Amino acid sequence: LTTAADTVAFHATHHARRTAVSCEGREVTYEQLHRESNRSARALLAAGAGRGSRVAYLGKESEDYYEIFFACAKTGAVLVPVNWRLSPGEVEHILRDSGAALVFVEREYEEMAARIRPELPALPEIVGLDGRSGRGKGFREWKAGHPDHGLAVEAAPDDPVTQIYTSGTTGLPKGVVLAHRSFFAIRDLLAEHGLDWIDWRPGDVSLISIPGFHVAGIWWAMQAFNAGATSVAMRMFTPHDAVRLIRELGVTTTLAVPSMLQMMLAERGVGPADFESLRLVTYGGSPISETLMLQCMEVLDCRLGQLYGLTESGNTALCLPPSDHRPGSPRLRAAGRPYPGVSVQVVDEKGNALEPGAVGEICLRTPAVMLEYWNMKEATEETLADGWLHTGDAGYLDEDGYVYVCDRLKDTVIVAGENVYPAEVENALCTHPAVAEAAVIGVPDERWGEAVRAFVVLRPEMSATPRELKLHLQGRLADFKSPSGYEFIERIPRNPSGKILRREIRKDFWTERD
Ligand code: AMP
Repeated sequence: LTTAADTVAFHATHHARRTAVSCEGREVTYEQLHRESNRSARALLAAGAGRGSRVAYLGKESEDYYEIFFACAKTGAVLVPVNWRLSPGEVEHILRDSGAALVFVEREYEEMAARIRPELPALPEIVGLDGRSGRGKGFREWKAGHPDHGLAVEAAPDDPVTQIYTSGTTGLPKGVVLAHRSFFAIRDLLAEHGLDWIDWRPGDVSLISIPGFHVAGIWWAMQAFNAGATSVAMRMFTPHDAVRLIRELGVTTTLAVPSMLQMMLAERGVGPADFESLRLVTYGGSPISETLMLQCMEVLDCRLGQLYGLTESGNTALCLPPSDHRPGSPRLRAAGRPYPGVSVQVVDEKGNALEPGAVGEICLRTPAVMLEYWNMKEATEETLADGWLHTGDAGYLDEDGYVYVCDRLKDTVIVAGENVYPAEVENALCTHPAVAEAAVIGVPDERWGEAVRAFVVLRPEMSATPRELKLHLQGRLADFKSPSGYEFIERIPRNPSGKILRREIRKDFWTERD
């Protein structure tokens, strides 16, 4: 298997009746997924959304999401999953930037889509979904009449298959273009070296708790599809539902961000009995505290694997395998070591490789790396300079090649796995008439990992309350980016060239990273 198109065709032949996706009690077999994605692929082609076209999806997880993903994979179209937590302005940017030819929209976002559409230069076709197959008329009618077989599939490992938007330094999200190979490379490397610690088994039931608009969500789903396992899709993560699904459906494996695990373990009455069916839990996306790791070892009582990666690295490039999850091991503080075939180096500001122990920027070389940032040649060249992916994370290597992440050079705040770029929040705050300057940082937060905190300098003789600023940001920014705390200060520390010295502000909040 080298492309997503192969994956679904292969399992439709070999495990036709096996459930590929289960969502809210509805089940879709591999055969159905294959056939229906053929039908959708033909409808895409008929709508002019063929090779290289961008096809946006604005909605929560459902079997339709995967069907559309595979339909794009079969025609050479590129799926652009849109984070439904974003504000209308942010969604508009993504639709405009990607030049989406077609947008699938779930009912709850139809109004937003209708409002945005006239703002777009080339009006994309909108197809309505309702998130509950069988009841969603728009999508069913749109593809009805197209045959579910006889499709001439055009897919190669280096073809782009998805474009995932991540926050950027400028405040506008960048489209990370990933090829099919991003979903296969690590699996192939592990298999080649006989290191199959993910060790998929035929009867595996995998919970998809991370949404598909994040690389981790779609990557994890693809790993399960590649293995012919059953994926349980959550429309929206709640700790209560996650625990219930694990217990009721006998989930054997999942990928979660640390704050999700923390919330699951904090659910009332939850204990080891709820997690009996689990055999492997992978986690990553943000740093994890040692306390939570130890708690996971005790309560989940299964094999644990940490993944480290970025959207740009096609998800995971490092892993801390189950064998390193031992209480007392100093490696518990590591994010992991590179998979065989992946290289890591830590460099100083001039790009010179540093010795073990010295802190610098973590750079990666991985076969799963992105193709490019969509329409951003310079940013692509900068991030992929000298053949290395510059992660924007600060860290160091130990003598055995384990990587320790200490800090972020790129200023991102990670709130429950969602990245927030201070610049975009600062820009939005500065549109308020009373705000002269603003600086935004992340502060440690027990529940979400980090929380967004704003430092605001008001214009002379003008006033604004945190509540007023919060209201001002509504509609301009996704709610999760809106600061949960405000401090009004006299002056924002800046360096001689005017850059905000975030470190200076942060030092009162961060001691040593736990
Ligand atoms: P994203 O592109 O949204 O997947 O975010 C990638 C960023 O998440 C990385 O650059 C890191 O800052 C952070 N991250 C991912 N995995 C880990 C991990 N295992 N430990 C610490 N930080 C992580």
